[in-house]
Amino acid sequence: MTDDPQAPAGRVVLVTGGNRGIGRAIAVAFGAAGYRVAITSRDGSGPAGVLAVQADVTDAVALDAAFRVVEAELGPVEVVVANAGITRDTLLLRMSEDDFDDVVATNLGGAFRVVKRASKGMLRARFGRVILISSVVGMLGSAGQVNYAASKSALVGFARSLTRELGARGITANVIAPGFIETDMTAALPEATQTEYKGRIPARRFGTVDEVARTAVWLASDDAAYISGAVIPVDGGLGMGH
Ligand code: NDP
Repeated sequence: MTDDPQAPAGRVVLVTGGNRGIGRAIAVAFGAAGYRVAITSRDGSGPAGVLAVQADVTDAVALDAAFRVVEAELGPVEVVVANAGITRDTLLLRMSEDDFDDVVATNLGGAFRVVKRASKGMLRARFGRVILISSVVGMLGSAGQVNYAASKSALVGFARSLTRELGARGITANVIAPGFIETDMTAALPEATQTEYKGRIPARRFGTVDEVARTAVWLASDDAAYISGAVIPVDGGLGMGH
C-alpha cells in the first residue's frame, strides 16, 4: 500500500453486495491490487481483510450510515462499484407490480442511492470512479426479464448522464455488462440449459467472477482515466460489443 493519494493502490473502494458472487470477487481483486476496500452486505458479512458494513441498497438512510462508517475507518470513497442486484423473472403478463418495483428499486434505485452518496466526496476530491454492474441482458433483452433488463439498460443512461454532469471534475462513470458468469445462479441451471447457453456464446464457456473483477480494477485505474460513459462487455462475445 502507498500513502500517495494519486496512486490507485492507496484509494478507497466501496462495493455493494460484496459478500458473495461477483461483488465478492471485485472486493477481493481490489484488495489484492492494494486498495482499501469496504463492502456493503445486508447481513454485515464480507470477505476477510475487507471492511464489511451492513446496508440494504433500497434504504438511503442505512446507506448513509454505512458511508459514515467507511469514511471514518478508511476515508472518503473514491471508487464505487454498484453491484448489488436481484432478479424476479417471469413473463410480463404474470409480472406483479412488486416483481417490477423490487427489481428496479434494487438494481437501478440502489445504484442511484449509492452513487449519489459517493459523489459528494468525489466532487470534493475532484476524483472519482463510478462503476455500475449491468448485464448483457440490458442490451439484448430476455424473455421473462422485462423488469431486470429495463433496470440494467437504464444504468447505461445513468452512467452517460453522470459522465456529462461530473466529467469535468475528474470523475468517470462506466458500465460493465457481464454475460453468463459462473456463480451460484448459473451453477443451479440444469446441465442441458447450460450447454444450450454455452452454444450461443462465441467463447463457448461461461465467464468467471475474476474476469469481471479484473475489468472493474482496470476501470478504476489511472490507465482508464480517459474512459467514461462506456459499456464494457465481459461476455465472451455474446453481445458483440453491443
Ligand atoms: P448474487 O445473487 O450472487 O449476489 C447478489 C448480491 O447483491 C448479494 O451480495 C446480495 O446480498 C446483494 N443484494 C441484493 N439485493 C440487495 C439489497 N436490496 N441491498 C443490498 N444488497 C443486495 O449475484 P451475482 O454475483 O451473480 O450478481 C452481481 C451483479 O452482477 C448483479 O447486479 C447481477 O445483476 C449482475 N450480473 C450477474 C450475472 C451472472 O451471470 N451472475 C450476469 C450479468 C450481470 P445478499 O447476500 O444480502 O442477498
